[in-house]
Amino acid sequence: MIVQAYAAETPKGELKPYEYKLDPVKGDDVDIEILYCGICHSDMSMLNNDWRSTQYPFVPGHEIVGKIIGKGELVKHLAIGQIVGVGWSAYSCLTCEECMSGNHNLCNDAKGTITGRHGGFADKVRCQSAWVIPIPEGVNLAAAGPLFCGGVTVFNPIIQNNITPLASVGVVGIGGLGHMALSFLKAWGCEVTAFSTSPEKEAEAKALGAHHFVSTHDKDALKQLKGRFDMILDTVNVELDWNNYLRTLKSKGVLHIVGVAPSITARVGHLMSKQRSISASPTGSPHVMAEMMKFVARHDIQPMVEVRPLAEVNEAMEKLHNGKPRYRLVLKMKE
Ligand code: NAP
Ligand code: ZN
Repeated sequence: MIVQAYAAETPKGELKPYEYKLDPVKGDDVDIEILYCGICHSDMSMLNNDWRSTQYPFVPGHEIVGKIIGKGELVKHLAIGQIVGVGWSAYSCLTCEECMSGNHNLCNDAKGTITGRHGGFADKVRCQSAWVIPIPEGVNLAAAGPLFCGGVTVFNPIIQNNITPLASVGVVGIGGLGHMALSFLKAWGCEVTAFSTSPEKEAEAKALGAHHFVSTHDKDALKQLKGRFDMILDTVNVELDWNNYLRTLKSKGVLHIVGVAPSITARVGHLMSKQRSISASPTGSPHVMAEMMKFVARHDIQPMVEVRPLAEVNEAMEKLHNGKPRYRLVLKMKE
């Protein structure tokens, strides 16, 4: 099978048409004809080789929505023609302690859709069937892709940290991930506060689900929120005023990091005095993804997306680089 994709040959390189061949599908792999693919900030970080792990030619894309067009002989639970999603992960061993306990996203042998493999800026993609998530009827397919990476990345901390509807939660960074976090947390029943460097996002953040909006240019605003939150969910890829964010947590509150900031330095005293903790997580397991899709369908949650044709992929990447998406760019594979 020939796959028509867009690839970069070098770090920060332009994405150009690129063709590669796949052998006939077998085992528990699934082939998907891609309809839409979201653009996550991690695609940009991988394209730029920020994490020193990118292999070139590099085909980005790991927020995939498509139709199953082929499956190996071991795949019984999915059907040809079924509409499905794929996120950051394309493979895990399924036998280690993590996989056996349902934490497939923590598998030591996990392989990403764009790490050593070719991703979803393409007409087709292949991955292991365990990571192929059926999309419930009624979900808007053009807006569904971002749920499979950005969405589950902010949904998973709600589950992992046992967040209840009584909780007060702050979301830092109202971008692709952050805007979905606001909608999830509102539907979950929480009191939701958006922290943003962009005051012009206030009205949209409130429409998406925030009860309160804090402009982080105002340093005093953070200090006034001492002891307010059960969880701060950080979606930003730069280092924050960690100590002041820790102080906004209640006793036993958690600062949960999903944005890939280089490092964190914080005073132990701010943790110890109130038994606060710092945590972080990568995406979510297939089970959490499937649960998220049920939640999304039940609450009619949709990422806010701007859809562009695949041929405009470089312009779309430039827009993401400039921090302009409102709030997720999605590529459409066919006219
Ligand atoms: P995005 O759409 O670019 O949004 C990031 C947001 O961060 C921006 O909209 C902005 O929000 C805020 N921001 C940007 N620069 C900032 C700065 N200098 N200081 C403070 N805030 C800043 O990115 P995304 O796709 O949501 O991804 C966010 C991060 O999550 C990236 O690091 C990405 O690699 C990571 N990620 C991690 C996982 C995981 O598994 N843990 C999965 C997916 C993505 P405001 O305008 O509101 O300030
Ligand atoms: Zn991603």
